Amino acid sequence: MDAVTAILNGATVNSTWSSYDILILIKHQLDISSIQWTMRHVGGPMDDEKDWKDFDIWEQTNVRADTMAKEALQNWVDSGRQRISTTGVPGTPWTISISGETITSNIRNEIYDSVWTPQIQKNWCKRMHLEHDLSNHIDWITFGKTMKNCDDNDRQFRTKHMAHISAKRRREREDEVCPRCGVSENNTHIYECTTDETTVIFETHCLELEVTIDSKGLPGMSLAISELLRAARAQTEPNFDIIFQHEIQQLARQQWEIGSRAIQWGIFHHEWATKLTTDWNDGRRCAHKWMATISNKIWDLNKELWEHRNDVLHKNDNAVRTLENERLDTDIANIIEEIKLIP
Ligand SMILES: [Zn+2]
Repeated sequence: MDAVTAILNGATVNSTWSSYDILILIKHQLDISSIQWTMRHVGGPMDDEKDWKDFDIWEQTNVRADTMAKEALQNWVDSGRQRISTTGVPGTPWTISISGETITSNIRNEIYDSVWTPQIQKNWCKRMHLEHDLSNHIDWITFGKTMKNCDDNDRQFRTKHMAHISAKRRREREDEVCPRCGVSENNTHIYECTTDETTVIFETHCLELEVTIDSKGLPGMSLAISELLRAARAQTEPNFDIIFQHEIQQLARQQWEIGSRAIQWGIFHHEWATKLTTDWNDGRRCAHKWMATISNKIWDLNKELWEHRNDVLHKNDNAVRTLENERLDTDIANIIEEIKLIP
């Protein structure tokens, strides 16, 4: 409405306007029309409170037009989303398509994204130790939404954590030992460490995650995701047989095939969102947005495990100190032995 008013007032439509292709068509039709057009706001289907008889002629027409548009959209969806040909409609602007999709908003951004997105995805795959060949199985839409839904601090932590650099300093090296259990530590060990305390953190988060997934997810989905998380932590194969729902079991297998570590970083196979969209079938809820909530919860787990590890490191009694003390004891013992050798 604002956009059409702007056109009537002489504004020039450009490709940074959303739905600019439709607006250009409207402008063309307004230009060639012999009618003098004026704009007014018309109430309509959003007003559920009102009775049909209380609508004026404008509102009734608006509701009818809306119903017809929805029917046309439904027919198009039911037809398997066949291509809509716009050729032959006077005033259709020239369009750009990338991979068969017509760009209907900011051309500059879309071209930029189409060039850079594959590069960025390749880089992420490398960081997450995922096979780049499997990149097209990853739900990158959810991934993008996950990163949008957290603050700058979290984003920074996540990027560095994946890149084997600690959040504060370059502490994580392959030869460093875990302050909690004393085995050699890298950034996946932070997730895999199995002391009693880390298990409590892990199980608590799994439980919260299951509650969230059960609220909107598919039957069997919460069990599938927590089984995948457990298997990634224990570095074993998941027990797929405990998932009774055949389709969910298939999804869990597909998830595992993109790499056992993917689930640990909250990276999902795109089929989850596809299945959710099909099952919800309400055209309103965004499956990717909801999957991003799950992904962020998995990241909360990673962050708490990391913070717990740091708390332990700064306590006096930890595995790193113990190891250092043992080394010192050996050194002192050696010195004493050597002193004994001195005549
Ligand atoms: Zn450990």
